[in-house]
This record gives sequence, C-alpha cells and structure tokens, in this order.
Amino acid sequence: MQLIVDQKEVPLYIKINPTDNVAIVVNSGGLPAGTVFACGLELREPVPQGHKVALVDLDQNEAIIRYGEIIGYTTRPINKGSWIDETLVHMPKPPSMDELSIANKVPEQLPPLEGYTFEGYRNANGSAGTRNILGITTSVQCVAGVLDYAVKKIKEEILPQYPNVEDVVALNHDYGCGVAINAPEAIIPIRTLQNLATHPNFGGEVMVVGLGCEKLLPVRLIPDGADATIIVLQEQQGFSAMVQRIMEEATEKLKKLNNRQRVLCPISDLVIGMQCGGSDAFSGVTANPAVGYAANLLVRAGATVLFSEVTEVRDGIHLLTPRAVNEEVGRALIREMKWYDHYLELGGADRSANTTPGNKRGGLANIVEKALGSIAKSGTSAIMGVLAPGEKATQKGLIYAATPASDFVCGTLQLASGIHLQVFTTGRGTPYGLAMAPVIKVSTRNALTEHWHDLIDVNAGRIATGEATIEEVGWEIFRLIIDVASGRKETWAEHWGLHNALCLFNPAPIT
Ligand code: CA
Repeated sequence: MQLIVDQKEVPLYIKINPTDNVAIVVNSGGLPAGTVFACGLELREPVPQGHKVALVDLDQNEAIIRYGEIIGYTTRPINKGSWIDETLVHMPKPPSMDELSIANKVPEQLPPLEGYTFEGYRNANGSAGTRNILGITTSVQCVAGVLDYAVKKIKEEILPQYPNVEDVVALNHDYGCGVAINAPEAIIPIRTLQNLATHPNFGGEVMVVGLGCEKLLPVRLIPDGADATIIVLQEQQGFSAMVQRIMEEATEKLKKLNNRQRVLCPISDLVIGMQCGGSDAFSGVTANPAVGYAANLLVRAGATVLFSEVTEVRDGIHLLTPRAVNEEVGRALIREMKWYDHYLELGGADRSANTTPGNKRGGLANIVEKALGSIAKSGTSAIMGVLAPGEKATQKGLIYAATPASDFVCGTLQLASGIHLQVFTTGRGTPYGLAMAPVIKVSTRNALTEHWHDLIDVNAGRIATGEATIEEVGWEIFRLIIDVASGRKETWAEHWGLHNALCLFNPAPIT
C-alpha cells in the first residue's frame, strides 16, 4: 500500500489510494475550520482526528472512495473541505457471493526469509510452545468455582516449587450442560474445547475437571491415546477432598512440565494470530498494514499466520478470494462468509451490527470502511487455507480462520486453532489479554500510545505522522514476536496479568 502523506505543514491528512476522494485528518484533537493544508485544501468546518474530509465536491448519491474502494454513497451534496461524518454515508450492498473471482490473482510466493529462530518448548508430538503452562480443562461451567479455589491454592502453595512452569490456568467456560449437545452447530464449542485442552503451551499434559452428570462427557475432551487425568467432583467426599484431589493431580503434572526447557526452534513452528479491536480510521493506515507487513515476514520465514473476524472481512471478500491459492480455498472462504450471513440472518441482524459507537467516534463510517482497514492485517501473500471456527491449524503460510470479530470470542477460537501468540491492533484502546498465550498490542495512534503508555507494546501511530514507515514498524513487530515467543520479553498484558475469559462461540441452542 502506498501512503500519500501531506507532511509539508503542521496540518496533516492521509489519502490512501490515488483514486480516493476523501482523506482522514491525522492531527491529534482534529483541525478547526479554516485550516489550510499544504496542497491548498481548506477545511470548511472542524474535522475530528481520524475523520474524513472531502477532497473534491461530491454530488448526492456519489460514491465515497477510500482505499480505492467504494465505502458508501453520499446522502446529500458535500462540498470540498467538508467533514463527512457517518450520517452522510449510505452503506453499499455487500459483495455478492455468486460473482466473486477466485484464485485469479494468486500472489507469487514471497522470497524465503532465513536466519531467524526462536526459543520454544519442544513437545512430544512435534509442536512447540511459547510458554510453559499447566492448563486445567473443564467439561462444564458447574466446576468453575471449585477449580478457581484450587488453582489459587496451587499457585500459592505448589507452583513456586516448579520454577520452570510459568502459570496454572483454569479453562473455565459457560458450556457443557443445559445445551443441545447433539445439535449440528454444537460441533463448534465442542471442538474448541477439545483443541484448547491440547494447546501447545500445555506441553501435552491434559487434565480435565468434570462434574459427573453433565452432557459433555470429560472423556470427549481427551484426544485418542493421550495420557490424561480426569477428576469427577461428584465422586469426591466433600469440598476439601475435591480441592485436595485437584492439587495432587496438578502436582504430578507440574513435576513433568518442570522438566521442559527452551530449545532453539525454527520460525516454522510458530502459529501467530492477528486480531483488531476498538478500531478507528487509522487502523487500516498504520497498525493493520504494519501487522500485515509482519505477517508477510512470518510467512516468508515459514510460520503459520491466522487472520479472522468474518464480519470484518465480509465487505472486503472480493479482494481476498482472488488471493486464494486455489479454487478449493476460495470456495472455503465463501462457505464461511455464507455460513455467517445465514447465522446473522437467523438472529435478525446483518453485518451493520458490527460497528461500535467507538469505531464511529474514531472516524469509521460503517462496516465497509472498517473491513477494508481490517483485511490489511493479512498482508499480501496467498491465502493457503481456511479453518471453520475452532479448527486446528495444520498448514503453513497465511490461513483464514473464521471467527466472530468479538475480541474475546476471536481470541478463544484462535487459541483453539493453536496460536502461540496474538498480535492485537487497537485505535480506541482495550486492555485485552489472554491467559494461554501472550498478546502484543499495537496502537494505531501516537495519542493512544501516550495515553496508555503502560499497556501498548508497539506504536504504529508514527506511520501517520511520517516518523516511521510501515516496513519499519512491521519489522519491529516481527522482532518483538520472536522475543516474546522466546520468553525474552513480556508484553504489558503479561506484565500486569490481564486475562480475558475464554468465551466459546456457541451458535447451537441452549436448553
Ligand atoms: Ca476483534
């Protein structure tokens, strides 16, 4: 992507594509009426930061173009230099799923990037972990209170004796009983739990706590042949016995995990997830393109990179299906989009339900504009595969992992797909974090980085002001991924212990 940044004077705007007829204001706090840019454009009214200014006179129903794409149509004539707020933008129809070009612009394979490794924990099944964690899986929400009590005691009394183990995590969730366990879509939460239980950061040690009468039998969460422990609370003689049993089993697992040591691993062992949350108009200009550049570097080094969030790619799908490596992958992308269209329809909603008040305050008029910025996280390589929600990644290269855009649901599903680390871009700001894998937070704006100096790991806002290039920030993210994956650096979310809950995606009925 080429940025056309007007840097000659203090007032700055960014026009992304030469065909764009709008640009966004860069300056923190926005710009007042009468501001004259170096190119001669004068603002007719105040324009907030990140919001769009008309670069030319626009008629009623004229296409508004950003990223070289139509993001909407004007509701009335708009003069050059005016603020285009979201009330002046009609949303266009989403791209039709029946007229998409598939695999007709497959990007050439990027040149290999050699000489990079990370230090990870090698697992018996050949995978590697970026953290050494005891994960305690649960088959049903009923056990959460007891398990939380036990985990607190394990952390206080037992974990300090096993210094190579970094954490003990209870995989609590709201599934397992009171649900239509045999409904077709129940496969999504069930396989999510199955894949979470065997996350590579858990070192192959599977421990499940169940209640005893739930629909989701604990044994269903254990892969064939795994050396797993199941504790059933209804079989224990009272609360103290439950806690004691969990602590005893945890001690056995901790002994084994404590023997894990970091060893040199190729980058091809890494599975990295990309996500955005609290997006603004800068997301598609600064943080997401920089993350996309890092995605290209990871793909070149042999890693697996996941991008997700169906409602935030749906309106850019016509830009993605041509990048599918073959017809089958393109069809799988369309399958996931259609599935989600149907899912939203059942709930009486459509993709316009995605944008938040914060997105709009940040300058995003609608989901079309948001999606065009969101897909920049995917970089420019060929899309090698598609995962349905919660499926485990088994391929290398860029993979589309279908998930809702909801931050914690996407995070949970990407963990199930096996991510070792997530890169998370934010413009409005969220203190988001995951317990099972580190999260690197990338800010879209300088002002957010200053405001949240002890939460943001990488400042991509420098791209908007011309202080850094997309390539420079992309390399910074790539190197930080390797350092965090190797345990040499911790993210702010890890430093403070910020963990969002696991939130399963359950499109099946609750009974
Ligand atoms: Ca999100």
